[in-house]
Amino acid sequence: MSHNIVFSAKALELQATAREIADKHVRPAAAHYDKAQEYNYDAARAVAEAGLFRTFIPAEYGGFGAGILALALVTEELAKADSGFGVAFAVNALGSFPIILGGTEEQKQHWLPQIATGDKFVAFCLSEKFAGSDAQALSVRATLDGDDYVICGEKKWTTNGGVADVYTVFCVTDPNSRSRRISAIIVEKGTPGFEVKKVEDKMGIRCVPVVETHFDHVRVPKKNLIGGRPGLGFKHAMMTLDYARPGVAAQALGAAQGAFEFANVYANRRQTFGVPISKHQMVQQLLADMAMKTEAARWLVYSSAAAIDQLGPSPANSKMAAMAKCYASDVAMEVATDAVQVFGGYGYMEDYPIAKFFRDAKILQIYEGTNQIQRLVIARHLIREAAELEHLQAFIPIEIQKTYEEDEVTQEA
Ligand SMILES: Cc1cc2nc3c(=O)[nH]c(=O)nc-3n(C[C@H](O)[C@H](O)[C@H](O)COP(=O)(O)OP(=O)(O)OC[C@H]3O[C@@H](n4cnc5c(N)ncnc54)[C@H](O)[C@@H]3O)c2cc1C
Repeated sequence: MSHNIVFSAKALELQATAREIADKHVRPAAAHYDKAQEYNYDAARAVAEAGLFRTFIPAEYGGFGAGILALALVTEELAKADSGFGVAFAVNALGSFPIILGGTEEQKQHWLPQIATGDKFVAFCLSEKFAGSDAQALSVRATLDGDDYVICGEKKWTTNGGVADVYTVFCVTDPNSRSRRISAIIVEKGTPGFEVKKVEDKMGIRCVPVVETHFDHVRVPKKNLIGGRPGLGFKHAMMTLDYARPGVAAQALGAAQGAFEFANVYANRRQTFGVPISKHQMVQQLLADMAMKTEAARWLVYSSAAAIDQLGPSPANSKMAAMAKCYASDVAMEVATDAVQVFGGYGYMEDYPIAKFFRDAKILQIYEGTNQIQRLVIARHLIREAAELEHLQAFIPIEIQKTYEEDEVTQEA
């Protein structure tokens, strides 16, 4: 590891602000917005007024340019109070990264200041009914017609859909190309032909809408093509996911920490056999494991975020981001499950906060690349790294190496 985890004064200030907003506007209302399946505009306004949307926007475009580690700290605080609201915040970064990382100067100057102030909310439209893990299989089509692109098709699972004003939409612009098939195009809410058709009824993160978006000959100016050239979309999507994964990992970290804290407090108050359940060794083991795993996830998340801030995009950072997303979301699911166990029967009831943590945690293992896909990403890097560890080959008997090479030849034949 060739980077340090440095918390800037700005990052810590933003973290403290996020914690205050979470305590005042998010946690007390979490159960209400979850039941009602409504967006928490009150908390979103507080986040905007406190300048938290500026966290991930570069300083030249009205942001704080505080970096991915600061984004992770803010997201963690909000998700600790309500996982759904954590996503509702972080998805704005996900939707903005294609513009930040791949947009033209003109696009950055036009869109980013409005996102920084919270005047415009953002959504990221990559997935389709038949293109989730296999993002190359997209079918939404954008055809150039004069000075406009005309978009037709359907997107699935758009988080923040309906609430968002700006959508980064990944479309097929060259169906005959393998490597330059896809482009990202900015579509604004209210553009004729662009509609939210179905609001999904979800297991968790119910305070943030996830929708199907339909594009019926949606005409957008050519200047909305991100990067100004067609065919860069897949590259922009992959760069975006590398940058955004520490943010999903931070949602998971917040969810794990939030569930753990409730379980810890409960275990000290709930009595059985005349003592608090925290005195029973098997409950102690549950709590110790929860705390240990959450702490391990924390430093992997912070480290992956700090690596991006210090070293920018690189294969090593892509591997770290996948590790952080995968590990922290597995931990969130385990910790939320164990938290229900600590609460006993009450953990299964919606009258108490812990059932929601359990429902909310599952999506973290699925979206922004399932954890199977993260493991594939990690494994691909490991195979490359193994080839670089030449000095270790001398310690492996030559017969075994030969067998492996022969197997490879057989497979290729
Ligand atoms: C609530 C929610 C919010 C979302 N928000 C957004 C959003 O804002 N924007 C957006 O673009 N998308 C969003 N998504 C989409 C999400 O990223 C996809 O659901 C996810 O990538 C998985 O795709 P899929 O559902 O098509 O599953 P599939 O790709 O069909 O996968 C099904 C199963 O097969 C496994 N699998 C698939 N391929 C492989 C493989 N090669 N090796 C091993 N296992 C494999 C998967 O891990 C999974 O377990 C959201 C989804 C949900 C449910």
